[in-house]
Amino acid sequence: MSEEKVHCLIIGAGPAGYTAAIYASRAGLKPLMYTGKTPGGQLTITNDVENYPGYPEGINGPMMMEDFRKQAERFGTVIRYEAITKVDFTGPQHKAWDESGKCILADSVIIATGASAKWLGIPSEQKYMHSGVSACAVCDGFFHRGKEVAIVGAGDTACEEASYLAKICKKVYMIVRREEMRASQIMQKRVLNTPNIEVLWSTETDEIFGENGVEGVRVKNSITGATRELAISGFFVAIGHKPNSDIFQGILDMDENGYLKTVPGTSRTNVEGVFACGDVQDHVYRQAVTAAGTGCMAALDAERYLAAREVAV
Ligand code: NDP
Repeated sequence: MSEEKVHCLIIGAGPAGYTAAIYASRAGLKPLMYTGKTPGGQLTITNDVENYPGYPEGINGPMMMEDFRKQAERFGTVIRYEAITKVDFTGPQHKAWDESGKCILADSVIIATGASAKWLGIPSEQKYMHSGVSACAVCDGFFHRGKEVAIVGAGDTACEEASYLAKICKKVYMIVRREEMRASQIMQKRVLNTPNIEVLWSTETDEIFGENGVEGVRVKNSITGATRELAISGFFVAIGHKPNSDIFQGILDMDENGYLKTVPGTSRTNVEGVFACGDVQDHVYRQAVTAAGTGCMAALDAERYLAAREVAV
């Protein structure tokens, strides 16, 4: 199989990967980017983005990612719409194999593979994905200000997002599948002490419905079997995220949930010349703008790493 040498390989094409590509290409690193299966990442399942600075009227998520892509290409980033399926970071040059079996020999690697929201897996969730179903309250809660919404989940994220939604929405139904929450005591307390959050214990989501986007959800009590319809305009899913880090298992340091570990204040991983940015290493902020910020850090770290090794670019 063929080989190709590059100074900088970027794996992943969300805000972090594209920002890394913009900086790396402007620094003359001639980056090669592999987009993976979802070019644009999680923003491609978002409608309007109103909290990214520089877009005063807001922008549609996929269009914003198109802007990022064009900006990266303008400075010479080469983009391949394929995934990297295997890596080997043991040698002096890092190796990565793409879907066609080609081996990329890279002086530096920037990992920006992101994370994927977990979904319930019911058909109506897919149907209303762009019209009221969301996995990010901070991104989409604003569209439901003054209205009633529901959120499913019982971890820290669900509690945090329910509290956030309660500040802008009239009422928040929190759908919890067991008789207790997994979230930390302090987060639970906050939720339980918020008057406009109603927790529905031992409750499962049957179906989301509506003629024009989400108009309601039918839920079922798993103990009594009783069903109930809630009139809502937004349905938020907060049942966890999965970082896209499977191919780095046993190769890079990660926490117990699979998030890559970086040296605090940098994008450096435990392997020299391998940097991580965006949601694959961040389970706390998970915003396009923070992902872009760490993408910039990764490109600057890669550039300095290559300069210190006197790799001619
Ligand atoms: P978690 O994995 O901690 O929680 C997921 C929640 O979703 C659980 O309550 C789980 O229920 C529920 N769930 C999973 N699948 C389903 C389903 N099919 N139907 C209904 N409910 C479901 O994920 P989080 O994103 O909340 O947190 C991830 C990590 O990030 C945690 O370590 C958390 O502590 C941390 N975090 C910390 C924050 C902070 O400190 N400010 C803020 C946000 C996250 P069950 O309990 O029944 O399994």
